[in-house]
Amino acid sequence: IDAGHGGFDPGAGQGSIREKYLTLMLARRLRDELLAKGGVRVALTRDDDRYLLLPERSGIARRLKADLFISIHADSVEAGDASGASIYTLSERGTTETAQRMADRENGADRVNGVLLQDKSDAVSAILVDLSQRETQAQSEEFARLLLREGLGRIRFREGPLESAAFVVLKSPDVPSVLFESGYISNAGDTARLLSPAGREAFAQATAQAIRVFLARQSLR
Ligand code: ZN
Repeated sequence: IDAGHGGFDPGAGQGSIREKYLTLMLARRLRDELLAKGGVRVALTRDDDRYLLLPERSGIARRLKADLFISIHADSVEAGDASGASIYTLSERGTTETAQRMADRENGADRVNGVLLQDKSDAVSAILVDLSQRETQAQSEEFARLLLREGLGRIRFREGPLESAAFVVLKSPDVPSVLFESGYISNAGDTARLLSPAGREAFAQATAQAIRVFLARQSLR
Protein backbone atom coordinates (compact mmCIF):
# COMPACT_ATOMS: atom_id res chain seq x y z
CA ILE A 1 0.00 0.00 0.00
CA ASP A 2 1.46 3.29 -1.11
CA ALA A 3 0.38 6.50 0.61
CA GLY A 4 0.84 9.12 -2.10
CA HIS A 5 3.17 12.11 -1.62
CA GLY A 6 4.91 12.85 1.72
CA GLY A 7 7.68 14.96 3.20
CA PHE A 8 8.29 18.17 1.25
CA ASP A 9 5.73 17.02 -1.33
CA PRO A 10 2.35 17.69 0.31
CA GLY A 11 0.29 16.82 -2.78
CA ALA A 12 -3.01 18.63 -3.28
CA GLY A 13 -4.99 20.54 -0.68
CA GLN A 14 -4.20 23.48 1.50
CA GLY A 15 -3.90 24.55 5.12
CA SER A 16 -3.92 21.60 7.47
CA ILE A 17 -5.78 19.41 4.98
CA ARG A 18 -3.04 18.09 2.76
CA GLU A 19 -3.18 15.09 0.50
CA LYS A 20 -0.05 13.55 2.04
CA TYR A 21 -1.76 13.27 5.47
CA LEU A 22 -5.02 12.01 4.05
CA THR A 23 -3.32 9.29 1.98
CA LEU A 24 -1.27 8.13 4.97
CA MET A 25 -4.39 7.93 7.13
CA LEU A 26 -6.22 5.90 4.50
CA ALA A 27 -3.21 3.63 3.90
CA ARG A 28 -2.91 2.87 7.62
CA ARG A 29 -6.64 2.27 7.93
CA LEU A 30 -6.56 -0.15 5.01
CA ARG A 31 -3.52 -1.95 6.45
CA ASP A 32 -5.28 -2.33 9.81
CA GLU A 33 -8.40 -3.64 8.11
CA LEU A 34 -6.40 -6.26 6.22
CA LEU A 35 -4.35 -7.30 9.23
CA ALA A 36 -7.41 -7.55 11.48
CA LYS A 37 -8.79 -10.39 9.39
CA GLY A 38 -5.38 -11.96 8.73
CA GLY A 39 -4.18 -14.11 5.84
CA VAL A 40 -2.58 -11.21 3.95
CA ARG A 41 0.92 -9.79 4.22
CA VAL A 42 0.83 -6.01 4.07
CA ALA A 43 3.58 -3.45 3.64
CA LEU A 44 3.34 0.32 3.42
CA THR A 45 5.79 2.21 1.23
CA ARG A 46 5.85 4.85 3.97
CA ASP A 47 4.46 4.87 7.49
CA ASP A 48 5.46 8.43 8.32
CA ASP A 49 5.73 11.82 6.66
CA ARG A 50 8.63 11.15 4.32
CA TYR A 51 9.38 11.82 0.69
CA LEU A 52 9.81 8.88 -1.69
CA LEU A 53 10.64 9.05 -5.37
CA LEU A 54 7.98 7.49 -7.59
CA PRO A 55 10.20 4.60 -8.77
CA GLU A 56 11.10 3.87 -5.13
CA ARG A 57 7.44 3.27 -4.37
CA SER A 58 6.86 0.65 -7.04
CA GLY A 59 10.43 -0.59 -6.38
CA ILE A 60 9.43 -1.58 -2.84
CA ALA A 61 6.52 -3.60 -4.22
CA ARG A 62 8.76 -5.34 -6.75
CA ARG A 63 11.43 -6.09 -4.16
CA LEU A 64 8.84 -7.67 -1.87
CA LYS A 65 7.40 -9.59 -4.84
CA ALA A 66 4.04 -8.10 -4.04
CA ASP A 67 0.92 -9.64 -5.57
CA LEU A 68 -0.67 -6.22 -5.76
CA PHE A 69 0.35 -2.57 -5.49
CA ILE A 70 -2.19 0.09 -4.62
CA SER A 71 -1.23 3.75 -4.56
CA ILE A 72 -3.64 5.98 -2.65
CA HIS A 73 -4.23 9.59 -3.65
CA ALA A 74 -6.85 12.33 -3.53
CA ASP A 75 -7.65 14.33 -6.62
CA SER A 76 -8.16 18.06 -6.90
CA VAL A 77 -9.46 20.58 -9.42
CA GLU A 78 -8.74 24.30 -9.71
CA ALA A 79 -12.16 25.19 -11.01
CA GLY A 80 -15.58 23.56 -10.86
CA ASP A 81 -16.69 21.18 -8.18
CA ALA A 82 -15.75 17.65 -9.17
CA SER A 83 -16.25 14.98 -6.55
CA GLY A 84 -16.07 11.23 -6.12
CA ALA A 85 -13.43 8.53 -6.30
CA SER A 86 -11.78 7.06 -9.39
CA ILE A 87 -9.43 4.17 -10.11
CA TYR A 88 -6.51 4.39 -12.54
CA THR A 89 -4.57 1.69 -14.28
CA LEU A 90 -1.60 2.18 -16.60
CA SER A 91 -2.52 3.40 -20.08
CA GLU A 92 -1.41 1.67 -23.26
CA ARG A 93 1.08 4.47 -23.89
CA GLY A 94 2.58 3.99 -20.45
CA THR A 95 2.74 0.24 -21.01
CA THR A 96 4.63 0.57 -24.27
CA GLU A 97 7.07 3.09 -22.82
CA THR A 98 7.98 0.78 -19.96
CA ALA A 99 8.54 -2.22 -22.19
CA GLN A 100 10.84 -0.11 -24.34
CA ARG A 101 12.68 1.43 -21.42
CA MET A 102 13.23 -1.89 -19.67
CA ALA A 103 14.39 -3.48 -22.88
CA ASP A 104 16.73 -0.61 -23.67
CA ARG A 105 18.36 -0.67 -20.30
CA GLU A 106 22.00 -1.20 -20.71
CA ASN A 107 23.22 -4.56 -19.46
CA GLY A 108 19.59 -5.19 -18.27
CA ALA A 109 20.25 -7.16 -15.11
CA ASP A 110 16.53 -7.10 -14.53
CA ARG A 111 14.41 -10.07 -13.83
CA VAL A 112 10.83 -9.93 -15.00
CA ASN A 113 8.49 -12.68 -13.81
CA GLY A 114 11.52 -14.80 -12.98
CA VAL A 115 13.11 -14.46 -16.41
CA LEU A 116 16.56 -12.94 -16.36
CA LEU A 117 16.84 -10.48 -19.19
CA GLN A 118 20.60 -10.18 -18.99
CA ASP A 119 21.42 -12.94 -21.44
CA LYS A 120 18.63 -12.13 -23.87
CA SER A 121 18.95 -9.92 -26.89
CA ASP A 122 17.18 -6.55 -26.80
CA ALA A 123 14.52 -7.79 -29.19
CA VAL A 124 13.77 -10.88 -27.10
CA SER A 125 13.87 -8.83 -23.89
CA ALA A 126 11.34 -6.40 -25.34
CA ILE A 127 8.98 -9.28 -26.17
CA LEU A 128 9.36 -10.89 -22.74
CA VAL A 129 8.76 -7.63 -20.92
CA ASP A 130 5.83 -6.90 -23.18
CA LEU A 131 4.21 -10.29 -22.52
CA SER A 132 4.72 -9.97 -18.78
CA GLN A 133 3.39 -6.45 -18.81
CA ARG A 134 0.28 -7.41 -20.75
CA GLU A 135 -0.55 -10.16 -18.27
CA THR A 136 0.12 -7.76 -15.37
CA GLN A 137 -2.00 -5.10 -17.04
CA ALA A 138 -4.94 -7.50 -17.42
CA GLN A 139 -4.68 -8.26 -13.70
CA SER A 140 -4.48 -4.56 -12.80
CA GLU A 141 -7.67 -3.95 -14.76
CA GLU A 142 -9.33 -6.93 -13.11
CA PHE A 143 -8.50 -5.51 -9.69
CA ALA A 144 -9.78 -2.07 -10.70
CA ARG A 145 -13.14 -3.62 -11.69
CA LEU A 146 -13.27 -5.56 -8.41
CA LEU A 147 -12.55 -2.42 -6.44
CA LEU A 148 -15.38 -0.65 -8.23
CA ARG A 149 -17.71 -3.59 -7.62
CA GLU A 150 -16.91 -3.81 -3.91
CA GLY A 151 -16.99 -0.05 -3.54
CA LEU A 152 -20.42 0.53 -5.07
CA GLY A 153 -22.84 1.58 -2.36
CA ARG A 154 -19.98 2.19 0.10
CA ILE A 155 -17.69 4.60 -1.73
CA ARG A 156 -18.94 7.54 -3.78
CA PHE A 157 -17.41 7.26 -7.25
CA ARG A 158 -17.39 9.93 -9.86
CA GLU A 159 -18.91 9.41 -13.29
CA GLY A 160 -16.70 7.11 -15.40
CA PRO A 161 -14.55 6.03 -12.46
CA LEU A 162 -12.28 3.58 -14.32
CA GLU A 163 -9.47 5.50 -15.99
CA SER A 164 -6.04 4.91 -17.44
CA ALA A 165 -3.00 7.18 -17.50
CA ALA A 166 0.78 6.92 -17.83
CA PHE A 167 1.48 7.23 -14.09
CA VAL A 168 5.12 6.42 -13.29
CA VAL A 169 4.15 4.70 -10.06
CA LEU A 170 2.08 2.14 -12.02
CA LYS A 171 4.90 1.02 -14.30
CA SER A 172 5.97 -2.23 -12.63
CA PRO A 173 6.06 -4.82 -15.40
CA ASP A 174 5.30 -7.67 -12.99
CA VAL A 175 3.19 -6.28 -10.13
CA PRO A 176 -0.50 -5.57 -10.80
CA SER A 177 -0.88 -1.90 -9.87
CA VAL A 178 -3.67 0.61 -9.47
CA LEU A 179 -3.82 4.20 -8.35
CA PHE A 180 -6.88 4.95 -6.26
CA GLU A 181 -8.00 8.59 -6.26
CA SER A 182 -10.08 8.28 -3.10
CA GLY A 183 -12.00 11.49 -3.76
CA TYR A 184 -11.43 15.19 -4.37
CA ILE A 185 -9.57 17.05 -1.67
CA SER A 186 -10.81 20.21 -3.40
CA ASN A 187 -14.39 19.15 -2.59
CA ALA A 188 -15.53 19.87 0.95
CA GLY A 189 -17.97 16.94 0.98
CA ASP A 190 -15.38 14.41 -0.18
CA THR A 191 -12.78 15.69 2.27
CA ALA A 192 -15.18 15.57 5.21
CA ARG A 193 -16.21 12.04 4.25
CA LEU A 194 -12.63 10.79 3.90
CA LEU A 195 -11.62 12.38 7.19
CA SER A 196 -14.59 10.92 9.07
CA PRO A 197 -14.22 7.54 10.83
CA ALA A 198 -17.23 6.20 8.89
CA GLY A 199 -15.82 7.33 5.54
CA ARG A 200 -12.42 5.84 6.27
CA GLU A 201 -14.03 2.61 7.38
CA ALA A 202 -16.10 2.37 4.19
CA PHE A 203 -12.97 2.99 2.13
CA ALA A 204 -10.95 0.39 4.04
CA GLN A 205 -13.65 -2.28 4.08
CA ALA A 206 -14.49 -2.04 0.39
CA THR A 207 -10.82 -1.95 -0.65
CA ALA A 208 -9.84 -4.80 1.68
CA GLN A 209 -12.69 -6.92 0.35
CA ALA A 210 -11.61 -6.27 -3.25
CA ILE A 211 -8.04 -7.21 -2.32
CA ARG A 212 -9.19 -10.46 -0.72
CA VAL A 213 -11.25 -11.47 -3.73
CA PHE A 214 -8.36 -10.57 -6.04
CA LEU A 215 -5.82 -12.60 -4.04
CA ALA A 216 -8.20 -15.56 -3.81
CA ARG A 217 -8.54 -15.53 -7.60
CA GLN A 218 -4.76 -15.23 -7.98
CA SER A 219 -4.23 -18.31 -5.84
CA LEU A 220 -6.47 -20.30 -8.22
CA ARG A 221 -4.49 -19.35 -11.31
ZN1 ZN B 1 -1.76 12.65 -5.44
